[in-house]
Amino acid sequence: MADGKTTAAADPVETILQLFRDRGTSEYGGESVTQEEHALQAAACAMADGAHEALVAAALLHDIGHLLHDLPEDAPDEGIDDHHENSGARFIESIFGPEVCEPVRLHVAAKRYLTAVEPEYRAKLSEPSITSLMLQGGPMSAEEQEAFRSNPHWEAAVRLRRYDEEAKVPGARTPTVEEFSELLGQLVKRA
Ligand code: FE
Repeated sequence: MADGKTTAAADPVETILQLFRDRGTSEYGGESVTQEEHALQAAACAMADGAHEALVAAALLHDIGHLLHDLPEDAPDEGIDDHHENSGARFIESIFGPEVCEPVRLHVAAKRYLTAVEPEYRAKLSEPSITSLMLQGGPMSAEEQEAFRSNPHWEAAVRLRRYDEEAKVPGARTPTVEEFSELLGQLVKRA
């Protein structure tokens, strides 16, 4: 049963792949792609951008928090913020290091940051993304921007956010989630 309290089992990469198999076909928040398509497109964008492996993994996993709850797909339209950036980061922090987990945790903050500092970015946001932005606190104030930039992972989070916006193309060709299992396995923390 997938819920916010689910923890990684003995083979954490297999646990993640299984989540995509079980839950990845759900609609991605009012967009015309599924959660799995969105994740794969974000990871493919990261690869095309020459991102290091941890950021590719972060792109693949950035919305894993959406796969951990049973809220309806139109929850933002009902005024519900699922805080998926926090639940997702918590879910993977026992598996991966901060180079993977922190951009995941910060990818909503990165949207709030970019909408404050880049009018062109805000103009590109889809309708569902604007709806969720308002639930997530809207564009950052100047103080919030400064605090955000003091986080050592802020730039990675901003890069991830740009992949996130690109990853909403119906029918785009990508690798499969299985094809990322080796990359994920190499990033698993060794005790
Ligand atoms: Fe996303």
